[in-house]
Amino acid sequence: MIKSFLMTFLLGTALYASDNTGDGRTFRLDNGLKVVVLTNTRAPIVYHSVWYKVGSTDDPVLKSGLAHYLEHMMFKSSKNHPSGEYVKILTKFGAKYNATTSFDRTSYYATLDKKYLSDIMELEADRMVNLTMDPKEALSERSVVIEERLMTRDNPPASRLSEMALSHYYLHHPYRLPVIGWKHEMETYTHEDALLHYKHFYSPSNAVLVLSGDITVEEAKTLAQKYYGSLPSHPVFHKEKVKEPTNHNITASLVLKDKGFGTPSVDILFQGISFKESLKKTYALEVVASLLKGKTGLWYDTLVEKEKIVTDFGVDYHGFSFDTAAPFSISLTLPKDGDVEKAKSRVMELIQNLIENTLNEDDVKLAKIKATNFFDYVKDSATTYGNFVGELMMKGFSLEEIEGLRGEIDKVTILDIQDVIREVFSKKPRVIATGLPEIQENREKEGEKKND
Ligand SMILES: [Zn+2]
Repeated sequence: MIKSFLMTFLLGTALYASDNTGDGRTFRLDNGLKVVVLTNTRAPIVYHSVWYKVGSTDDPVLKSGLAHYLEHMMFKSSKNHPSGEYVKILTKFGAKYNATTSFDRTSYYATLDKKYLSDIMELEADRMVNLTMDPKEALSERSVVIEERLMTRDNPPASRLSEMALSHYYLHHPYRLPVIGWKHEMETYTHEDALLHYKHFYSPSNAVLVLSGDITVEEAKTLAQKYYGSLPSHPVFHKEKVKEPTNHNITASLVLKDKGFGTPSVDILFQGISFKESLKKTYALEVVASLLKGKTGLWYDTLVEKEKIVTDFGVDYHGFSFDTAAPFSISLTLPKDGDVEKAKSRVMELIQNLIENTLNEDDVKLAKIKATNFFDYVKDSATTYGNFVGELMMKGFSLEEIEGLRGEIDKVTILDIQDVIREVFSKKPRVIATGLPEIQENREKEGEKKND
């Protein structure tokens, strides 16, 4: 079976020493666990998080959403703690905690008083290797994730539309599948499925521990060694990530009419550029996103204040995703009686202007300040910074590279920006997804009747 996949061998022990940072803030234990220390003594708290390189793109065929299901099972029984004890203890500590699964990783974090750091380390190290995967607990948690799918994906019309939009945006890449999984496959999960996935992917050699806050490197080394150092490790194999085929220059137009939409909305998804394809272009597109985003963005005044075509609009760019087809999306929220066609064509007109005209230097300067400020603001909180660093480490960035991002964005020139604008926006969007409140549908039906 293994030979039928293109597999990549991850993390050979001989390589461990090579990614230690000179100043010691990143180091590896002998079992392969990578540790990152981000000292910030503003408050006597520590953010402790474990990141596993396993996400929905690692889900086996016919078991979509298994990585997310496993994330839920991590709160059940382990060798040294009964089911639910993790939450009970953390609640008692007044900790802030959460677990999330995304396309490429699963993470568990807790921010808590420094005096409880040893406790969270003991709990987290225990469930890294000692989960018992009780069949009864697995069965009841299966209902929980199916219910979660119902509440978060099947019921809200915006989620249904965005699920459909992603599956049209990607033709081939596993990002087209929902992280939470398809219901009919979720119904087949067994405790053995979760156990197999756990045994394969949960290993110190496939994880990163991020400690952010009131902790020194020396303290981190002693504690990490004490709690995680003796855990057994094994090699982890990942499927090679498939690439999205070239843009067909065709737009998939999706329309969902549902009374759950308060007002009409339109999401326009262009094919952006991923950091895997070009870091330089990714930085330039980050500045483009910053140029268009928010109230200080280039189009806000025109679209919202003057022409009142939309009540709000957002820009989102996922350049740090593993696939070449990293989406660059423009989202429009219209007034209740807004004209969707007019809004779409006005935005396309503004995009055309952006392609054809030279950018104003002051606008670019402001966009770069906005984009680079982000890297300062993110350091403000131990939790936010820990999450930010953990997320990028999962993409393969080193701490030095993460700390260098601010400077890289600062180096972007007007020419770089104009080049990526032309490259990305000269092609048709991959998907346009429109959500309409049912009231509009009724109006149309009434209109049709009158014409009969
Ligand atoms: Zn969940």
